Amino acid sequence: MKINANYNNLEKSYLFITIAKKLNEYKEAHPEADIIKMGIGDVTRPLCPAVVNAMNRAVTEMGNAETFRGYGDEQGYSFLQDAIKGYYAGKGVELETDEIFVSDGAKSDLGNILDLISTENTVLVPDPVYPVYVDTNVMAGRKIAYMTGSEENGFLPMPGDAPEADIVYLCSPNNPTGAVYDKDQLKEWVDWANERDALILFDAAYEAFVGDENLPTSIYQIEGAKTCAIEVCSFSKTAGFTGTRCGYTVVPHALVRENTELNPMWRRRQTTKFNGVPYIVQRGAEAVFTEEGYAQTRADIAYYKENARIMAAALDEVGVTYFGGINSPYIWMKIPGGMTGWEFFDKLLEEANVVGTPGVGFGKAGEGYFRLTAFGNKERTIEAMERIKKLISLI
Ligand code: PLP
Repeated sequence: MKINANYNNLEKSYLFITIAKKLNEYKEAHPEADIIKMGIGDVTRPLCPAVVNAMNRAVTEMGNAETFRGYGDEQGYSFLQDAIKGYYAGKGVELETDEIFVSDGAKSDLGNILDLISTENTVLVPDPVYPVYVDTNVMAGRKIAYMTGSEENGFLPMPGDAPEADIVYLCSPNNPTGAVYDKDQLKEWVDWANERDALILFDAAYEAFVGDENLPTSIYQIEGAKTCAIEVCSFSKTAGFTGTRCGYTVVPHALVRENTELNPMWRRRQTTKFNGVPYIVQRGAEAVFTEEGYAQTRADIAYYKENARIMAAALDEVGVTYFGGINSPYIWMKIPGGMTGWEFFDKLLEEANVVGTPGVGFGKAGEGYFRLTAFGNKERTIEAMERIKKLISLI
């Protein structure tokens, strides 16, 4: 047999594997070191009580012959689809129940959705960016064009500067830069996509971090988006589901390419290749949209955003330029002293015992920047920023 040779074109090592390797080597050499991790974007707050109670009730149901459930719908239970639909209605977006597909998370869907799209298409990817957009397309052998995020465009590339393409990935609030597109900017992208029958893959994994009412939290808040955009979202960062696994993707019926609706294509793909999300997990996700669950999950988000505020204030004190951190859990800081991302990573690890992520791991345009995450414990975040301030004041 012949292998999929496209895998040979992948970057040799996934960013977070390199970080983990460096960290383990350092820990082995310095077992006493008190290391604070601000690298990987994983959450630390536990599942909220409303979610835990809902999941407990669901476990009891599954252990009872009268309420036991076997195979569920691959596209999700209607109780969760309806809860998501209600959430969107609150944003002023009307969706049909069958436009919402429950998944085990945004990462899977961002890769799997490519099953619907010819490998002949060119994809447009921002640089820097969440590495999954690039790697999934490299695996499929698709041509990738890049658009650069920079200080000049506020890390929000716009169509006017973008090369021609058939599909574009937009991530707002952005990982890694924390930048958020406003409605006018997204409207330019929607118009760009509708004009050329292109497709926007909108990653809204961090939408719950948007506090500014004027900023969009869904692409469908923009007129014309239903004919050109698929939105991928997740409970990972909204409700601490990184270990529990649940997300959802919206494929509007109005999205038609080559006289074909993408919604039934995605349904067919999911019913054939996806096993659906466990009933217990979907009951937990449903609880996120109850009054109690919403208040509890938003309190956790407020906790992380307070960390981000502390981090930003510390960087202000030492005069470091940064982006994000307001409507996002990420701070994208400019590395002082002209060091490369990996040089700064090593220095921070060795001299401050703090782990962050070199911006270059998210693309060439990320060189010279460094990502810090606000997903940690508050006291440890304060301690980390004290160490970072001390280190930077000596550079
Ligand atoms: N999209 C972005 C931009 C992310 O940063 C992440 C995770 O860090 C994901 C998607 C993956 O989310 P999930 O845990 O739902 O797979």
